[in-house]
Amino acid sequence: MSWNKIRRLIGIRANILDGRVLADKIMDEIAKKLQALKERKNIVPGLAVVLIGDDPASQIYVRNKQKACQRVGIDSYVKKFDKDVSLNHVLGFINELNSDVHINGILVQLPLPSHINPEFVINAISPDKDVDGFHPLNAGKLMRGESCLEPCTPKGIIRLVEQTGEEIAGKNVCVIGRSNIVGKPVSLMFLKRDATVTICHSKTDSLANVTSRADILVVAAGKPNLIDDRFVKEGSIVIDVGINRTDNGLTGDMDFEKASGKAGWITPVPGGVGPVTISMLLENTLLAAQKRGVYEL
Ligand code: NAD
Repeated sequence: MSWNKIRRLIGIRANILDGRVLADKIMDEIAKKLQALKERKNIVPGLAVVLIGDDPASQIYVRNKQKACQRVGIDSYVKKFDKDVSLNHVLGFINELNSDVHINGILVQLPLPSHINPEFVINAISPDKDVDGFHPLNAGKLMRGESCLEPCTPKGIIRLVEQTGEEIAGKNVCVIGRSNIVGKPVSLMFLKRDATVTICHSKTDSLANVTSRADILVVAAGKPNLIDDRFVKEGSIVIDVGINRTDNGLTGDMDFEKASGKAGWITPVPGGVGPVTISMLLENTLLAAQKRGVYEL
């Protein structure tokens, strides 16, 4: 049953931004483009995923990414390293991937074991193959408003907001969280689209005073039940990025029942930002391969 049917049945006010439906649509479009790329240039993009250690959540994420690649026609390769692997060994492997013509995208699944500094690993990935958009060159270009491989979750958040049909320019956007993966890049993306952006974090005073003025509220704190109706402006768009494993299963950062009584649009967890993030990874792999098609063939 679709989210909006469930919403009507249980009387939730907000429109549900269904990430699964949007991701399906995006993946169908990508599959068509990949078919064309294959027919015209004989390119089948390759995505290499590097998995270090045995974190159960990371293994699920990697499996989901592999399935998504298979669905649209991207060749995916997973390289697993033992949790004790040395940094030098990982860097050597990334170097090999950088020069492998069959690989268009490289992704290192985070988090990494404590002895491996993620900065060294991310910095070693060729910026042209950095489909997670975490390399300093891509991050710097994003800050300057230049075209680049953009990080997948922030890109997915923008796509979800666009689904509402609401104009972003001129809106008050509040982002809770200032990480390099979600909070900072998504703030820059809203700024590029002429929104007025406020970034909140763990030291923000009177959080509800700030968030309740936002036309668009993005919550990426990783704290279950951080946000309820008191933090939400009537009729606003609320995007819940959080993924928290609790005794009651997977939850976001919001009290969904309360927040959805006040918001105009809201994302569920699961089934909101997560699926769209994966579709953005596929899109970035396609973009990286198209670039190769233009410049090398
Ligand atoms: P992070 O831990 O790096 O950053 C969390 C941010 O939240 C920090 O900037 C911190 O200052 C802020 N914060 C923490 N507690 C707060 C509070 N009480 N009030 C205000 N701000 C507070 O996390 P991250 O990597 O940005 O991820 C955030 C959440 O999003 C996590 O739950 C993560 O699992 C999830 N996530 C989901 C996806 C997806 O695809 N759906 C992708 C990436 C991250």
